[in-house]
Amino acid sequence: MRVGLSIGGGVSAMERLEPRDLAADGFASVFMACYEDEMRWHAQTAADFARSCQSAGLEVFVVPIGYGRVFDPDPSTESLYVREHSRNWQVDSRGRRVPKACPNNPAFLEWFSSNMRTLAWLVECSGFLWDEPALYFARGAWACRCEWCQRHFFAERQHQLPLELDSDVARFRRDTLLMFLLAAAAAIQAVDRRLLSVVMPLSTASSREAGLAADTLGPVAESSATDALSVYVPWQTQGRDMEVALTTAAEDARAATRKNHKPVVLWIGGSPHPRDKLLEALTVARRADVQHLVIAGHQTLTASAAYERFRPALARAIAQASRPR
Ligand SMILES: [Zn+2]
Repeated sequence: MRVGLSIGGGVSAMERLEPRDLAADGFASVFMACYEDEMRWHAQTAADFARSCQSAGLEVFVVPIGYGRVFDPDPSTESLYVREHSRNWQVDSRGRRVPKACPNNPAFLEWFSSNMRTLAWLVECSGFLWDEPALYFARGAWACRCEWCQRHFFAERQHQLPLELDSDVARFRRDTLLMFLLAAAAAIQAVDRRLLSVVMPLSTASSREAGLAADTLGPVAESSATDALSVYVPWQTQGRDMEVALTTAAEDARAATRKNHKPVVLWIGGSPHPRDKLLEALTVARRADVQHLVIAGHQTLTASAAYERFRPALARAIAQASRPR
């Protein structure tokens, strides 16, 4: 099993971390968050950090954050594009514009693809991770009903886009995201065909809440936009048993990718605090035959005050988990 670290926190985190230390602790990969608003001025810092990660033997993945806020696990993320282009915002079922760009809007798509090409060109990496792409959904209101979405829907189904979120609309919203992922993958692979497109769909529970069709893993795994499937296991926030949640997620992801043998990347949240059971989770993941486990824990792990004391134990656990079977 390979163990990766997700580095949120943007440029300031990159400046604080020493890639050689991460490699010495046994990490094999890093997933570095690249924020739209930071990349305008600090793309070089990200590029330098990626290069030193690669020299230290770490595999690098870019995680674009912001960029119209279609990939948006954290709704507080800023996007200058969104601030400046309210005409390209999604429109919800009550007719209100919501501050997220619509992935069916051609002007946004063009801007997004061009930014991803630039990022792929600047930052040497193995691939990009598309983190939880989603359309707006809250308190029963759903997006998107902008003019472009209405046109797309009508062209495909020869009737108007309904106001109710029925199964047809749920499928349309899911297909919209799949089409967007195809454009995203095409953008980076236009720069380098070998760049991997790793897709992290919304967790099953949150996608039901987000009004998407029930099975999100299957269609994402089958899409040609997906070279590797990524699954987050939020056992802590769901109040689930770690071992059960991790093992089930590994099985579900494997089932979804069985036909096409795509690699799976599993994510867990982690911190030095015993309640996060990080050391145990490494053992459980290895037993569940996980090939690549990423610890989503820059703020909670590497930036935490207890990290230095925790490092030796973590390094031992990673070494154990990374042993060839
Ligand atoms: Zn739209």
